[in-house]
Amino acid sequence: MSDIRDTVILGSGCAGLTAAIYAARANLKPLVLEGHEFRMGHLVSADLSKHPFVLNLGSDTLHARTLIIASGASARWLGLPSEQALIGHGVSSCATCDGFFFSGKEIAVVGGGDSAMEEALFLTRFATRVTLLHRRDQFRASKIMLERAIAHPTISFMSNTAVEEVLGVEQKEVTGLRLRNTVTGAQSTLNVSGLFLGIGHEPNAKMFAGQIDLDQDGYVTTHDQVHTRVPGVFACGDVQDRRYRQAITAAGSGCMAALEVEKYLEEHGR
Ligand code: NAP
Repeated sequence: MSDIRDTVILGSGCAGLTAAIYAARANLKPLVLEGHEFRMGHLVSADLSKHPFVLNLGSDTLHARTLIIASGASARWLGLPSEQALIGHGVSSCATCDGFFFSGKEIAVVGGGDSAMEEALFLTRFATRVTLLHRRDQFRASKIMLERAIAHPTISFMSNTAVEEVLGVEQKEVTGLRLRNTVTGAQSTLNVSGLFLGIGHEPNAKMFAGQIDLDQDGYVTTHDQVHTRVPGVFACGDVQDRRYRQAITAAGSGCMAALEVEKYLEEHGR
């Protein structure tokens, strides 16, 4: 039975690595499966109906008494080649992380939901002008967030507007955006130094659909902080947190997951 791991941690972000530190402190010899973006990582499939759990890594199979899902959530991108080329050079999906770099500059935020409103409002702390671009003229954002953004003197709205290209690839920094009116088709240019995407996140949990509970947007549903409905399977960090999504909250829940694993193994035997 020595080839059965006490715990396997899926994901090597703040939640996964914190869980790993705490599991190692408890001498559980955790195995962390990492991937730049978890969906690019090693896990092909998992069978959580068996115990120990069976994790299929393609050519390898792992057996684990407990599993910590810390596979995170990936920001949605527009998918434009110019956008991808300028990530980290003016294109960002995290206002909290990168807003500071845009002090005194003009920027644009894409999206019509609460994330976009929140990002736009946050960015007014730094930017001299924030233009919110939304592809329709109806907003998913809650009334209160939308009204707050509309009322803010630094934020202006361009609805029915899609980003066609991020300008500045040759200069290796964002110099502007080529826009298209989604109703008239008219094109225009907006001079900005930054583009923030606020078009949502996708939790990396699709591989567990049908085995643990996911909410309507695909986030892992947990009870008692980090427990999934399958005993021995825990989830922490952005894959189960649609609200805070901060490094420190992810690390906190990673710690909790490892402590729960320790407790579970004490109760159920190793
Ligand atoms: P969301 O509500 O799904 O909104 C995503 C927005 O991005 C939509 O307006 C959508 O446009 C747009 N969008 C999606 N893909 C796009 C694309 N390829 N190109 C252009 N636009 C695109 O996502 P969210 O704003 O991240 O919110 C997710 C959940 O978290 C919501 O329940 C929200 O209330 C909650 N949340 C709450 C807070 C808060 O209360 N402080 C903060 C953030 C998030 P369409 O409308 O045309 O589809």
